[in-house]
Amino acid sequence: MIVSKFGGTSVGSYEAMSHSASIVAKNPGRKLIVISATSGTTNDLVALEDFSLNSTDKESRLIAIETRHKSIIQECPNKEELLTRFNGQLSELRIHLEQQSRDKRWKDRLYAFGELMSTYIFADVLRTRGVEVEWLDARKIIKTDSTFGNAVPELATIKKKADTHIQKEKVYLTQGFIGSDIFGSTTTLGRGGSDYSAALFAEAVGADTLEIWTDVAGVFTTDPRIVKNARAIPEITFDEAAELSVFGGKVLHPATLKPAIRSGIDVKVLSSKEPELKGTTIVKKSESEPVIRAISLRKDQTLLTVRSLDMLHQHGFLAKLFTVLANNQISVDLVTTSEVSVSLTLDTAAKASNKVELTEKVYRELSEFCDVEVERDLSLVALIGNKLNTTSGVSGKLFSMLKDHNIRLVCHGASANNICFLVEEGTGEKIVKLLHKRFIK
Ligand code: ASP
Ligand code: MG
Repeated sequence: MIVSKFGGTSVGSYEAMSHSASIVAKNPGRKLIVISATSGTTNDLVALEDFSLNSTDKESRLIAIETRHKSIIQECPNKEELLTRFNGQLSELRIHLEQQSRDKRWKDRLYAFGELMSTYIFADVLRTRGVEVEWLDARKIIKTDSTFGNAVPELATIKKKADTHIQKEKVYLTQGFIGSDIFGSTTTLGRGGSDYSAALFAEAVGADTLEIWTDVAGVFTTDPRIVKNARAIPEITFDEAAELSVFGGKVLHPATLKPAIRSGIDVKVLSSKEPELKGTTIVKKSESEPVIRAISLRKDQTLLTVRSLDMLHQHGFLAKLFTVLANNQISVDLVTTSEVSVSLTLDTAAKASNKVELTEKVYRELSEFCDVEVERDLSLVALIGNKLNTTSGVSGKLFSMLKDHNIRLVCHGASANNICFLVEEGTGEKIVKLLHKRFIK
């Protein structure tokens, strides 16, 4: 059994939907199809949550959503029926936007419109390709806690719900990204969460393979927009892919791999534009495990440095620091320490929906026991591969190549699959080009 996920660009127009539908039709093993909102729609919905949005901007967002979907519906054989349903959803959306209390629960219900809209239309496109799909409300299966915006799935319940509602012989189409809590309120798994949904579904139904259909043909050696001859990696291990998804290879949502690793499901990353290409398969153990497989770049990094003389020969300082961050729900990415200072970067990937910023409150709480310095406009470059912590000579080669650049922070040693360092934003791409040429070609 295969679970196939199609991202926003793979369902973003009638043409894209047609391609994706043909892919589904080709293999009867594809029993559960998970899709995102049409590309751009979630961004429009996120913009609409802003109470201060003036009415012109609000209307233009609503019109963008309407035009995008109606231009797809126009091409569908059942356009009357689809149009009636879509207009209903649009009025529901307008009513939702009238509500005064805009809490996180309200926001998640708002975001869900995107996936609910796209699935009704794609169901029709699939049926015209002869795929008899059943439309499934993901909120019936993907049960989560009530952390709106970044909900945590409840695995045992999801499994039970899947056993009850999903029959092996049927083909289902459902939404990524959304779920519901025990009170039935709609929740979301965080921006880009459809991959994660698909992996949760794959785990719950005991699938052998999870396909992630996107607009790039796999996981690349680096961002092809930066390096022209970057190429798709045929096979990569879960460990490397996990590092890559966290450190900038935006192909997969970082959490996606967890259910797949747990349950031994092969993950394939494929392009719906070029379905004949092999893409990338992510596996537990790969035949080839090169020391350096890929190079990634993550922009917009914030470096936080705290210093305190109290830290000298003291215990508990790090605990105190991390408690403040944890209490403010800030997740940390990289850390280096000296006797009296700690530098760390904040995890922006985990919170893709709201860029992590140090609020005044956090700043104040930290300033009570240390000096705080914040540097912005940094980029993180990561080398991803295998045995990086035990292979001699890698860092020598690396840093001799970077002798003309100022490196703000280095993390090396903790992971066998990653060496990374922070550089000034302006130099990130240049460094990636240089390293790709030297280490990958
Ligand atoms: N539609 C959601 C988003 O744009 C989920 C996803 O595409 O994975 O974040
Ligand atoms: Mg996506």
